[in-house]
Amino acid sequence: MDFIGQKAVVERFMEQYKSGMTSHAYVLSGPPGIGKKTLAREMARTLLCGEEPARAPCGRCRGCKSFAAGSNPGFFEIVPKTRNILIEQIRELIDHIMVRPAQGRKVYLIQEADRMTTQAQNCLLKTLEEPPPYAVIIMTANSFESLLITIRSRVVHLRLGRYSDEEMRQILKRHGKSSADMDAAIAFSEGNPARALAIMGNPEFLKTRELVFAHMLGENGPDPADCELNLHLSGNKDALPDCLDILESAYRDVMMILCGKSGNLINSDKRDKLMEYARRSSMQRVIAVIREVNAIRSHLKRYMNHQLAVDLVTLVPHD
Ligand SMILES: [Zn+2]
Repeated sequence: MDFIGQKAVVERFMEQYKSGMTSHAYVLSGPPGIGKKTLAREMARTLLCGEEPARAPCGRCRGCKSFAAGSNPGFFEIVPKTRNILIEQIRELIDHIMVRPAQGRKVYLIQEADRMTTQAQNCLLKTLEEPPPYAVIIMTANSFESLLITIRSRVVHLRLGRYSDEEMRQILKRHGKSSADMDAAIAFSEGNPARALAIMGNPEFLKTRELVFAHMLGENGPDPADCELNLHLSGNKDALPDCLDILESAYRDVMMILCGKSGNLINSDKRDKLMEYARRSSMQRVIAVIREVNAIRSHLKRYMNHQLAVDLVTLVPHD
């Protein structure tokens, strides 16, 4: 299967498939951006490949080619039409699923299945109880638990988790990304490819990051109130939460260096400067700053005025 990461999930599915024990229904769950839809489509492509399971998906057969072209006659996707997936959509699916295919399987992908109304889920239940042997239903859901328990008990649940840094690098490369910002984006994405791609596509974040480091390392001259970071944050409400995250990660890195664990830095591209900073700082100082950053973050959530928070962040002496 052509999919980077989620090894346990992929192996479980492929083992079932190769041994002829494919389930009639799967739910892929995990946070937005983790790759549920991509993996669901890859599973569908595998199931619709004409080659034997050990070699599927082959990429060469008629099934694979028509899948790539978006015209495989055995593949159907259901997406929420409004905020929900309505019972009418599931009724259509059921009418459709009962028609036996000329050959091979019929694979249905229900996207965001946790947005099915209760009526829609109950309607689908009958099909899950007595599925036609040629049909496989793959569902994606942010939250498996928000599906009806009767649905949950009739599906194979595959939970997608965070990707390793190396897997993230491979995924970003596949998306044509290769800049020096990659490590920073990966560090801030918590193993979520969509988040990393959003960061890489957001020059504002990268600008905020450069300004935060310049400020922290004292590269902006002696008057912090006028510093570029202050101006940047004043005019840009969305940048402040990013700034706090970046600051916290930077001081966490300094803490690691002071503990002699400099091999695993989030901001590895700034290693030299962080090492230099650590030499003139102390553990107490770093812990105090991390506390201040977190205090500002929680005040900001509740009541603090934006400009006051900006001034607190940029006026705090970081040395
Ligand atoms: Zn094939």
